[in-house]
Amino acid sequence: MPAQDNLNPHANAHLQGPLFQNALTTINEAAKLINCDPNILERLQQPRRCVTVSVPVRMDDGSVKCFTGYRVQYNSTLGPYKGGIRYHQNVDLAEVVGLAALMTFKNSVLGIPLGGAKGGICVDPTKLSRTEKQNLTRRYTSEIAPFVGPTKDIPAPDVGTDPQTMAWFMDTYSQEQGGYAQPGVVTGKPVEIGGSLGRNHATGLGVIYTCERAMELKGKSMQGAKIVIQGFGNVGSFAAKFAAERGSRIIAVSDVSGGYFNGDGLNVPEMMAYVKENKSLKGYTKAQPISNAELLELECDALLPCALEGQIDVHNAEKIKAKMIVEGANGPVSAAATKILDKRGVYIVPDVIANGGGVIVSYFEWVQDIMSFFWDEHDVDAKLKGVILKAFDNVHKFKEEKNVDMRSAALAVSIQRLEKAMLLRGLYPR
Ligand code: NAD
Repeated sequence: MPAQDNLNPHANAHLQGPLFQNALTTINEAAKLINCDPNILERLQQPRRCVTVSVPVRMDDGSVKCFTGYRVQYNSTLGPYKGGIRYHQNVDLAEVVGLAALMTFKNSVLGIPLGGAKGGICVDPTKLSRTEKQNLTRRYTSEIAPFVGPTKDIPAPDVGTDPQTMAWFMDTYSQEQGGYAQPGVVTGKPVEIGGSLGRNHATGLGVIYTCERAMELKGKSMQGAKIVIQGFGNVGSFAAKFAAERGSRIIAVSDVSGGYFNGDGLNVPEMMAYVKENKSLKGYTKAQPISNAELLELECDALLPCALEGQIDVHNAEKIKAKMIVEGANGPVSAAATKILDKRGVYIVPDVIANGGGVIVSYFEWVQDIMSFFWDEHDVDAKLKGVILKAFDNVHKFKEEKNVDMRSAALAVSIQRLEKAMLLRGLYPR
C-alpha cells in the first residue's frame, strides 16, 4: 500500500491539546520500557469514540441556550468505559480526550475491570440556578444515552458535578429505559439511591494506604511521622484525618485561604469542623500562617499535594525537603520535576495510584448496584486497601527491577496490562 502522507492535518485537531500531548509523551516513553508491540501502541494513541452533542436548555428567564457537551470513550478492552463528567467553562473536546486517556491508564494500573472515558460540558456551573443545572444534566444525559449504560459506559462526578448531578443523570436514564431504576448507570450517587458507603472518604483513605506502604518500604511508620498537606478539601482533609488517626503529626495544611503551621501537630478534627462551618480555613487562628511556597518546602517525612496540578516543577523541585511525595491531586508534580526529585532520592507515589481510591470505590459501587447487595463501610475500606496496595506493590516491583521512577513504572505496568488484553482480543475485523 502507498504511504498515507496526504491526509488532512486538521482531521485530528482534537488530539493536539496540551494535556493529551503530554500524556502521549509519557505513554511513548513508558512503552519503550516494556517493548510494547508497535501495533498496540498505534491503537493506544487515539480515542475509540468522541461524541459531541448540543444541549439546549430552557433558562430561568424563558430563553433557550445551547451548550456543547462531550463524551469521549477512549478504550474498553478491559471492561465498560468509566470516567467522570466535568462542568467547567474551559472544557473542550481536546481536554476531554486527554482526561479520557488518563482514566484508561489509571484503571489499567489499578487492575480494575474497566476501560477509560470522560465527559464534560462547556459551561460555568456557578452561573446556573439549580433548575438550570438540572435541565442541563437531564438533556445532556438524554443526548448521550445511546452510548452509556451499566454494561457500556458508567459516568461519575468530576469538577463542577456532584452526587445530586449523578442522581438527576440516573433518574433521566432510568425514565428513558421504561421507567425502571438503573442505578448502575452512574457512580458517586447518594447512598439512598444506590451509592456506596465509604465513597466520600475513599480518595483520602487511599492516599494514606499508599503513604503507609511507602513508609514501610523505607523502614518507617506513620506513627510519629511529620506530614504536610496542601489542600484541605475532600482529598486533603480525609488524608489528614486518616494520617492523624495513625499517630502522624500533621504539621501544616493549606487551602485557598493560605497555609497553617504547628510544629507540634495540628488538631485535624477541629479544623474539619471549622471548614464545615466556614467553608474554608480562612480566619482559623490556632496555627501559624505560612505561604504556599513555604508549606511545600517544609522539612517532613511525607508531603501530600492534594489541591491542584502543577505545584512542583523545575523552579522549586530542588527546594523540596520532603522525604517522599504522595500525589493526592492529579498532576501536582511535573514530569521534569519528577526526574529531579527522583535523582535526589525523593520517593514519589504517582497520582494514578495514590488517588486511585475514588475510582476503586466507584467500581465497588457499580458492582454493588449490579448485585443489589450493599456492603458495610468497613468492608468497602478493607476491599479498597486490598486493591490499591496490590497495584502499588506491582508498580514498586517493576520500579525496582527496571530501576526507573514510580511514575514511569506505573505507566509501563498499565500499558503492559492493556497490551496483553488487546493482543488476546485481537483486531476486529482481522
Ligand atoms: P476539593 O475542591 O474538595 O478541594 C480542593 C482543596 O484545594 C480545597 O481545600 C481548596 O481550598 C484547596 N486549594 C485550592 N487552591 C489552592 C491553592 N492555591 N493553594 C492551596 N490550596 C488550594 O477537591 P478534591 O476533590 O479534594 O480534589 C483535589 C484534587 O484531587 C484534584 O486535583 C482532583 O482532581 C484530585 N482527585 C480527587 C478525587 C476525589 O475523589 N475527590 C479523586 C481523584 C483525584
